[in-house]
Parts: sequence; structure tokens; C-alpha cells
Amino acid sequence: RIVAVGSINMDLVNHVAEFPLPGETIHGRGTEYLPGGKGANQAVAASLAGGNVAMIGAVGEDSFAEPLLASLRDRGVDVSGVLRKPGTSGLAFITVSDAGENQIILSEGSNGRLRPEDLPAEKLAEADAVILQNEIPWETNLRAMEICRTGRAKVVYNPAPVKPIPQEAYPLIDLLVVNETEAEGLSGVPVDGLEGAEKAAKELLGRGAGSVLVTLGAQGSYYLGPDGGGIRTPAFPVRPVDTTAAGDTFIGALVTAEAGGMKTADALRFASAASAIAVTRKGAQASIPTRDEIERMVAP
Ligand code: ADP
Repeated sequence: RIVAVGSINMDLVNHVAEFPLPGETIHGRGTEYLPGGKGANQAVAASLAGGNVAMIGAVGEDSFAEPLLASLRDRGVDVSGVLRKPGTSGLAFITVSDAGENQIILSEGSNGRLRPEDLPAEKLAEADAVILQNEIPWETNLRAMEICRTGRAKVVYNPAPVKPIPQEAYPLIDLLVVNETEAEGLSGVPVDGLEGAEKAAKELLGRGAGSVLVTLGAQGSYYLGPDGGGIRTPAFPVRPVDTTAAGDTFIGALVTAEAGGMKTADALRFASAASAIAVTRKGAQASIPTRDEIERMVAP
């Protein structure tokens, strides 16, 4: 069983010709409600890849709470551990211009109110893997890591959006998953492609992480294992439409594949296929593929 602890957001996407200037009012071209949030996206990705997945998080007491839960439930995620907290749910106000640029205001809402004492210790400790990101309070993530240490659960941590990790927390992480920006921000090593990724991964492994995965967008990914052995996995060649949730899809699919006993190199290829499909579709959770779709991509 896999447990995702993290954020649950509604992405409110407005399309405009051009961004409004300060003080200006403009007409939009329409609004979409797209369930997202890194925690929820990774839970959905793990579930659709065939995993038995439970979500731990919080929604608010507002009209977004129910559709957010439904999006998870419809994709097979157990939401019995999702709390309801007074106030709003996590919201992302996204404006996309005709030029393809975006502006985003994050309102953490109930995600910011998920406390260490809200965590169900037994459920975490007994999981095969617990997946964490940076859209809930750090104290809650740290507590989750400490609980995993008391049990058998492997800690998979995706520090996004990036902020420094206290040195004493590195040894609590079994798999640290970072994109180029996060790899560079944490390691201090410039990362623009495979060479930098290898150096950054080595630095982060040196700080005590059990293993490190650096995702490199269309350039694929680099994994550095506990024994110091590296695996380069190419990206599948696709025409990207919307890269939202590419990293989240990779992580969820990887964790499910590994929990199912797949060898690391095969699990990385499976995850690469899953995220390649996700970038060819719009939205966050709506873009995440099923196990059948992933298997057809891996071995057509
Ligand atoms: P994030 O979304 O967290 O920034 P990346 O952009 O590194 O993460 O993407 C994660 C993974 O998704 C990559 O390692 C790759 O396997 C896949 N991916 C991302 N962009 C593309 C693309 N344009 N074509 C194919 N695969 C992609």
C-alpha cells in the first residue's frame, strides 16, 4: 500500500488575450476547474498506475471540497484519511495568456492547516512507501518522515516548490526526487542536463539521502542508487501539449512500479512512459494515464 501525504488544490484556470494591467478590468475567454495539487496528483498517478493508494491531506469547508474528493475517489484513491478543516480549500488561480505565458497565485488554504498531529501514525508506518512534497507545512513532512523510520515505509520526498532541507532530515529520505531547478537549488550545482544532474545527485546522496532521482524534462532522468550506481532513462519522444503534473505522474508511477516489485531500471522506464503520456494532455489529474495506457507506451 502507498500513502500520499500532501496538498489537494483546485486549479482555477482563466484564459485571457493579454494579462490585465494594475487597476484594469478585462473579459476572460472562459474558466476551467481542474483538480490538482502535487500531493493529490501523485496519489492519482500511483493509483491509476495500478497501486493501492491512500491520501492523507485536508480540504476546506467550501464548495471545492467535494469535487476535489470526487476527483481522487473516481481515480481509485482512498480518501478516508482526508480531513475537513474550517476555511477554504487549497486553490491555484492561474491565468494563461494567448502568448502561452501564465501567472499563478497559490492560496494554500486547508493544505497549510495539516498538522503533524493529524497524521495517522500506524497507516504511515505500515505502508510500502509514503510520498511527500512541499505544499504542506514542513513540520508535518518531518513528522511523517520520522514516523516512517519507526516502521517499514520507504520515504519518497519531492521537495517542490523548493526550499532548503535541514541537514538532519536527509538521512530520513529514501528517495529524493528533484527536477532541474530543485536539484540546483538544493545542491548548489548548476543543473542543465545530464552532466549537472549527475554532480547534483552525488552531492545530495553525500548529504545522506538513500537515493536520488533528477528529472530533466524532455531530456529524461538520472537516478543515483544507494550503491552509487547511476541509471539514465531517456524521455519518450512525444509532442508536449501541457507539461503540468509531468513530475507528479513520474513519481506516482515509479512508486507503484517499485512497490509492485519491478526492477528499478524497468520502473524508471514505466514512469517515463507515464509522464510522456501526461504531457500530451491538458490538466493535472485529468492528464494522468492508466496502467493499460502506460503499458501500451512501454511496449507498443
Ligand atoms: P517537473 O514537471 O517536476 O518540472 P520534469 O519537467 O523534469 O518535471 O518532467 C518529469 C518527467 O516527465 C521527465 O523526466 C520526463 O520523463 C517526462 N517529460 C517531461 N517533459 C517531457 C517531454 N516534453 N517529452 C517527454 N517526456 C517528458
